[in-house]
Amino acid sequence: MADSKRGDVTSQAPRVGDQAGASTRSVHGGQRDRHSGSTLVPPLHQTSTFVFEDSAEVRAYAEGRLERDEYGRYSNPTWREVENKLSDLEGGEATVLFGSGMAAATTTFLALLDKGSHIVVTNDCYRRTRQFIQQVLSKLEVEATVIAPADPIALKDAIRDETVFFFTESPTNPYLRVIDLPEAVRVAHERGVKVLVDSTFATPVNHRALADGADLVMHSGTKYLAGHNDLIAGTVTGSSEEVAPVRALAGVLGGILDPHAAWLFHRGLKTLALRMERHNHNGLAVARFLESQPKVRRVFYPGLESHPDYAVATRLMEGFSGVVTFEIDGDLDDTIRFVDACRLPYIAPSLGGVETLIEMPVLMSYWDYPPEERQSYGITDNLVRLACGVEDPADLIGDLERALGAI
Ligand SMILES: *Cc1c(COP(=O)(O)O)cnc(C)c1O
Repeated sequence: MADSKRGDVTSQAPRVGDQAGASTRSVHGGQRDRHSGSTLVPPLHQTSTFVFEDSAEVRAYAEGRLERDEYGRYSNPTWREVENKLSDLEGGEATVLFGSGMAAATTTFLALLDKGSHIVVTNDCYRRTRQFIQQVLSKLEVEATVIAPADPIALKDAIRDETVFFFTESPTNPYLRVIDLPEAVRVAHERGVKVLVDSTFATPVNHRALADGADLVMHSGTKYLAGHNDLIAGTVTGSSEEVAPVRALAGVLGGILDPHAAWLFHRGLKTLALRMERHNHNGLAVARFLESQPKVRRVFYPGLESHPDYAVATRLMEGFSGVVTFEIDGDLDDTIRFVDACRLPYIAPSLGGVETLIEMPVLMSYWDYPPEERQSYGITDNLVRLACGVEDPADLIGDLERALGAI
């Protein structure tokens, strides 16, 4: 069947090769050929389904002689634009797009696990991922061993014969622990255990998890990848073989992305490397400023020498992103006074967009936990998570300095 029937991206050679820089790849990566209508920008395929010429074409497709789109829960040419670009950026063969980061993680977990499987996860992680493991995977009698993030010995001890994968964020949330991924991969692969990395806080610009040996890398595309606080999306990237069962289950569970959101996602990705330069710059500048302030007790940022993973982070990462976590030298009320006095950052959950966001985990993500459980995750009353956007660093620092004066 003619190529024009197969959506818009043909299998021709990509426009840019592996050796191109991160900005060039953000703009051109994954782009294979002309789009229909010779548009520069990929068209938005806002459709639920795809039309067959006749029953012979249906049969050719059903028998696997023809590759094309069938129904919008399985594939869409606009998705493919995002998937190809992300595969290029991550250095993977295939990517699956999801309607949220949580859909990406939960679908991937379910695709890989059997009843009674065992997994190893780290304790500093996104709240809903933990909830899924505790409340849903437990129904499949999946057991999870929780270890400290940067502890390869604990990982080695946690692995059993029935362990399927080790899952971790890097950097973690909210303490920004950076995993020595090559070491974790060595320990896990020795026992036939896969390594899954949630690289939302790093992005492929700052860390290439697949190059460091991860089997699958996931993102909340909502954050840095799309980058404009205007959509919710998720991704999973890896080898074609690793990604295939995830794609198959995505078509069953149906946690897919609307084509319009995928189109916006693609536009956002073009400036990923450009935006990360500023996020990295702002994160480091703000972290250094906060560390110099008497009203700030502690700052957690992997680009500061005071961070426990500074050496690992500088070895593995190109930059440390825009999230800075810190403790105000005061109690809950002092911290609230500071946050409410900030003018530039919006008070909101999320991170990774062009607008700076600020939140107190104790009031936002962890408000409904009993205090002892909250403490066990290290969520103190004076903890603040600042997700630096791409504003001018002097304006951000000026605003934070003024707000600290309100304490
Ligand atoms: C936001 C986030 C998620 C969840 O992603 P959604 O797109 O909100 O579903 C998962 N992991 C990390 C590290 C996140 O920051």
